[in-house]
Amino acid sequence: MQKKSSGVSRRGFITGSAIALAMTGVPTVVAKSKTSLLSEPRGKRVVVVGGGYGGVTAAKYIKKENPEAEVVLIEKNQLFVSCPLSNHYLVGLIDYGQLCFPYNKLYTKYGVKVINDLVVDIDLTKRKVFTSRGYIDYNYLVLSTGIEYDTENYPFYKEALWHFPAAFSPGSEHLYLRRLIEEFEGENVVITVPKMPYRCPPAPYERAAMLLSYIKENGLKAHMYFIDANEHPPVLSDGFMKAYEDFYRGTATYITGATVKDIDVGKKKVITDKGEFVFDFGSLIPPMRAPRFLKEVGLLGKGDRWVSVDPMTYETEFKNVFVIGDSCETYLPKSGYAANSEAKVVAKIIGGRIKGKEYRGELIQHGICYAMVNLKSAIVMEVEYKYNVETREIQKILREDNTWKVSTAKRYYEWARGLWRDMFL
Ligand SMILES: Cc1cc2nc3c(=O)[nH]c(=O)nc-3n(C[C@H](O)[C@H](O)[C@H](O)COP(=O)(O)OP(=O)(O)OC[C@H]3O[C@@H](n4cnc5c(N)ncnc54)[C@H](O)[C@@H]3O)c2cc1C
Repeated sequence: MQKKSSGVSRRGFITGSAIALAMTGVPTVVAKSKTSLLSEPRGKRVVVVGGGYGGVTAAKYIKKENPEAEVVLIEKNQLFVSCPLSNHYLVGLIDYGQLCFPYNKLYTKYGVKVINDLVVDIDLTKRKVFTSRGYIDYNYLVLSTGIEYDTENYPFYKEALWHFPAAFSPGSEHLYLRRLIEEFEGENVVITVPKMPYRCPPAPYERAAMLLSYIKENGLKAHMYFIDANEHPPVLSDGFMKAYEDFYRGTATYITGATVKDIDVGKKKVITDKGEFVFDFGSLIPPMRAPRFLKEVGLLGKGDRWVSVDPMTYETEFKNVFVIGDSCETYLPKSGYAANSEAKVVAKIIGGRIKGKEYRGELIQHGICYAMVNLKSAIVMEVEYKYNVETREIQKILREDNTWKVSTAKRYYEWARGLWRDMFL
């Protein structure tokens, strides 16, 4: 049987692979290079920066719906590693490998050119993206660069995170945090939660619940101090608070509205305006922001933590430059599902412009957040925004199911697998 063509020439594949191999790892030189990394495209070129939830979805859907366009995805890491379900990994419910996906299918099946490199600068006027090795011109730019820990404004977190990684960024932080959990023999646990907005609002509460459940199942003698800068869980509050009252009150203390002032790593002590907490094991989750380089390129205003975009189209003040996912400020919670949904909106808008007409259909964005309340049961929230481009009216529909269910925990796995299939297959 004749093999179906992927629509990608052998020459193109070699170019993509060679670039990918040559650019592995974090570059030591970040000066702007004058070398063009790719030859002139035949049609329009869309550059997507960041191969996470938003970027992978955007690259795949833009190329799928506009095969005539050249789509280039630039990602600094060699593999995609999922944060959703990473709390499951931390307490031993799944393997790390289940969170990892290679980018190869995006190329072989869809023809997206994948470049493994760090973006160091963007010239928004000349429409050029600079990596450590060269530049790429673009007609349309989509940035889905996720979050950065805000150690600039909260410097005491810097050293603390070397010892106790937050594991809120995809990658090896989770591996080390899991080892710390496995080696933990008991006594005091501290979790710090920053003020909203931060990546995945229910994730710290889920981590606390799963960790307490793990501690109980392993017969460890430990007490958790859950230090929250917020007054209550920002989503699924009823489900989490009931779990706290019913399962964890004796083994955990919930401190609300507390500001972390300092962390003494040597003495393993978190200093807050509501007291000092000594710990043996810590999951120290710092305040977050969009990556700093977005400020340097002119996309973040002074003092802003997130990029300002049209909340329904994700276009920035620069025409044809879009920011999606956790880096931007929007109605949706900062979540992988929201980033996936936003990417599809942007794919429609860019697709329309490539074809020479502005997209005029209804734009729908979704957010779904599942959260475990112990090692077996979960709760879930769904939010949907429908936006009518003609009337500019927004309709919001929110649903929370705060009843713990084993069936919801099963749907959680299925939901994640479905999302990964949507991105990579
Ligand atoms: C513990 C935990 C549990 C979670 N659970 C859920 C859940 O159940 N459901 C849910 O919907 N969401 C969940 N999330 C949230 C979800 O992980 C994020 O919201 C999602 O990853 C955001 O997608 P993104 O594309 O904005 O960022 P990311 O997925 O982080 O992708 C950003 C990518 O950009 C790359 N990058 C950044 N800067 C550069 C650069 N200069 N050059 C090249 N590449 C760059 C990064 O390497 C990264 O791969 C969870 C998060 C955590 C931490």
